Amino acid sequence: MSHTDLKSEINSRKTFAIISHPDAGKTTLTEKLLLFGGAIREAGSVKARKAERYATSDWMELERQRGISITSSALQFKYQGFVINILDTPGHQDFSEDTYRTLTAADSAVMLIDAAKGVETQTKKLFEVCRQRGIPIFTFINKFDRNAKDPLDLMDEVEKVLGIESYAMNWPIGMGQDFKGIYDRKTGQVERFVEGSARSSAKPPISGVFSDPLVQDGIGEGLVKQLTEEIELLDLAGNDFSQDRVDRGEVTPVFFGSALNNFGVPNFLQYFLELAPAPQPRNTNLGELDPETPSFSGYIFKIQANMNSQHRDRIAFIRICTGRYERGMNVIHTRSHRRLRLAQPQQLFAQERTILDEAFAGDIIGVHDSGLLRIGDVLTEKDGLQFEAMPFFSPENFARINIANALKRKQFIKGIQELQEEGAIHVFRDLHVGVEAPIVGVVGQLQFEVLEYRLREEYGVNVNIQHLPFEIVRWVEKDEKTVKLLTESSMSTVVMDKDDNYAVLLLDQWKANWLSERYEIKFYNQPF
Ligand code: GDP
Repeated sequence: MSHTDLKSEINSRKTFAIISHPDAGKTTLTEKLLLFGGAIREAGSVKARKAERYATSDWMELERQRGISITSSALQFKYQGFVINILDTPGHQDFSEDTYRTLTAADSAVMLIDAAKGVETQTKKLFEVCRQRGIPIFTFINKFDRNAKDPLDLMDEVEKVLGIESYAMNWPIGMGQDFKGIYDRKTGQVERFVEGSARSSAKPPISGVFSDPLVQDGIGEGLVKQLTEEIELLDLAGNDFSQDRVDRGEVTPVFFGSALNNFGVPNFLQYFLELAPAPQPRNTNLGELDPETPSFSGYIFKIQANMNSQHRDRIAFIRICTGRYERGMNVIHTRSHRRLRLAQPQQLFAQERTILDEAFAGDIIGVHDSGLLRIGDVLTEKDGLQFEAMPFFSPENFARINIANALKRKQFIKGIQELQEEGAIHVFRDLHVGVEAPIVGVVGQLQFEVLEYRLREEYGVNVNIQHLPFEIVRWVEKDEKTVKLLTESSMSTVVMDKDDNYAVLLLDQWKANWLSERYEIKFYNQPF
């Protein structure tokens, strides 16, 4: 393939994640976006999905409800010459490391906000991760067909709570019962809202330029006056907008609409495709690497076991960072320096998992893994290549996991091992206790429930979870004196991690500081 072709393939890619607080409408918006690409056929609203709390991904739930196969970590569809990859970020109440790692695979993020609720806790946390990566963030303020907060207040809230400038691309005319539509600030066009129009075959609503008397008649005098004033205010007092500022994550383009009614979604998508970045260069140990570097490289950001309950499988998801993947190609697994044939990678097009013939930087592919691959591993044609390290999140909740029925010991050990390899839990063991009763550390409490559920459902093992009072884990050097001191102290428990590194569990930061100062022990925030 010529360099020009490679470049144009890569430049047509938009890989992004939707970040939001549960219930803001992520599943609904995803579904509407898929509709554009013809990835799903019929429009229709996704029913509330409260029952299935443990769905590993929101898409699994969508799959369950709609009877379509979309289980994956990334969905791809084509639209207007672009290849769009949407990454799934699980929407549990409790945020997890998995979500953070998935965000490393995105080139931009769409922040979805419920117009009645504003910026919520989970959105804030996810936003922070995106900001640390410096990726552009687009904002869609959803549910304007219902009573909402004042749009100016919402813009202000985004700025104050998240510390990013906001720039309205379109503006809502009224809200709730009086929601009349949106005004596109660039074109001056008004798009009229008629409830449910996008879902039924009802006539398209009247649209046109705002100055058109017919359009103004439809909106009503009061709202025309209000819109005129608000637009003037935005033009005068609003933030500066430029592609550069979006690229640098200084300003977020804001859109209003209603995902459920598919209203404002086409307008959003059009500008998003215009403004969102194609795959960007990545920092590596060999310097910055352009995505159109001809040789293939990528890294594993997620491993998921048992995606299909019929037959046990484990899939490692790779974000391609440079070059082109070709079916059956040989790559080097840099951690082991072994050669690996990427024989049957999968990707999700439309309604089924397909075997892929080729893929490009920006795409996500899934490969079957027999246990060799780990999160953060690099696959490349150039041995020795390393990308920036995966973010590490220190666990803050700890529990001892006891098996309820000793006969299931083998399955238990396997389950714990595999869930650890997926990166769902951190496993520690006491110096003198065997693998039967490990201590598990997680970032969010809910992960214990997920662990219990998955051990039961996927491995047939019942466990008792005995919560421990520790809040902190720190790694220490393998030094006999240090280990003895910490073992004897009443303030700490010495454990070993999966790679036989020594770590200590501590009750709180204060005790960690005290021990460290008193005995001159150096504590590390992560394994070394
Ligand atoms: P998620 O938890 O973020 O994936 O949210 P869902 O997509 O499941 O949506 C949560 C609820 O909000 C569902 O009942 C949706 O039907 C509803 N919803 C989503 N978008 C809209 C919207 O634009 N207007 C209204 N009124 N409801 C919406």
